[in-house]
Amino acid sequence: MPHLIRENLFISNIVDAAEILQTTTTTTVPHNITHILSVLSSASISFFSEWRSSFSVSVKEISKLHVSDVPTAAKSALSPDKLLYSLEYAGEDFKLVRMAVPLRDTESENLLDYLQVCVDFIERSRKEGSVLVHCFAGVSRSAAVITAYLMKSENLSLEDALASLKQSCEFVCPNDGFLEQLKMFEEMGFKVDQSSLVYKRFRLKILGENHFSGSRIDSSKLGADPGMPVETSSEVGEATKVENNRSPAYRCKKCRRIVALQEHVVDHIPGEGETSFGWHKRKSGNPFNKSNESECSSIFIEPLRWMKDVEEGALEGKLSCAHCDARLGYFNWAGIQCSCGSWITPAFQLHKSRVDISPV
Ligand SMILES: [Zn+2]
Ligand SMILES: [Zn+2]
Repeated sequence: MPHLIRENLFISNIVDAAEILQTTTTTTVPHNITHILSVLSSASISFFSEWRSSFSVSVKEISKLHVSDVPTAAKSALSPDKLLYSLEYAGEDFKLVRMAVPLRDTESENLLDYLQVCVDFIERSRKEGSVLVHCFAGVSRSAAVITAYLMKSENLSLEDALASLKQSCEFVCPNDGFLEQLKMFEEMGFKVDQSSLVYKRFRLKILGENHFSGSRIDSSKLGADPGMPVETSSEVGEATKVENNRSPAYRCKKCRRIVALQEHVVDHIPGEGETSFGWHKRKSGNPFNKSNESECSSIFIEPLRWMKDVEEGALEGKLSCAHCDARLGYFNWAGIQCSCGSWITPAFQLHKSRVDISPV
């Protein structure tokens, strides 16, 4: 039986969802459910669709709307088969809107990028009728999505939202990876803020996992090259240039090409995660010693499109200026230790001695 969480909001497993999807008349639908949010592996989603169409009820793709709701960066982080879609099942006397989110119940799955679209779907559905959120067992994935919804709609911390959900459905238990991502959702103010350090670190972690699982990191997964507007006068270039004005730039010391913007920097706390094996902090002689980042002789950035070896799939290599080929730093998907002692993983490192920071 679906469990009531809030008015017009239910959680359940695949068996209950299947029962509703078999229904052909409104009068027999449990709890007058009008909307279903399925959070399942891609295979289970297509199984559902095919199975339903074998009942020869019209299956109509109502909209590609939800696809465009996914943030651009999220789309590029996801593989092409990972698309959200929304279907409407309509019988004689029956209408059911269903959105499917392809997600496996593993700790490394990217739940975060789907949270906004799920929360919006639940919000909209509760206004139009009753919504059932389900996954396979009704324990981890659906519970994680509902927890995010309660956090946002009722301004609750992760702990409070989960405790409240457990009052209605005691066996819910999102996996640890999902809990970590829900914590990030809380830290970002119940939204997915792609410019935040929390999100940047998360995105790098996902990219790193993609790399080690053998997925190709093509250029669509890398950040735009901030040095490009200098070489092009296209509309896109101009638009980027305007945007660049808001952010200080790092330039190759030798040829002055822009290699990164402040927004690409993924900061770390100097010494964070330092090992205890006799690491001695060094004072380097570079001019950045005056700043409070005096311990770090490098900056670490997101992978960008000028990094050819990264695009070609290398595990590690040099980062050289795309214009003059000067050595700027190093990258390693398995991590690099900063001079302050922190391990950055994965790491795309620029030596401060090889770049200048200046307004664009
Ligand atoms: Zn450092
Ligand atoms: Zn250069």
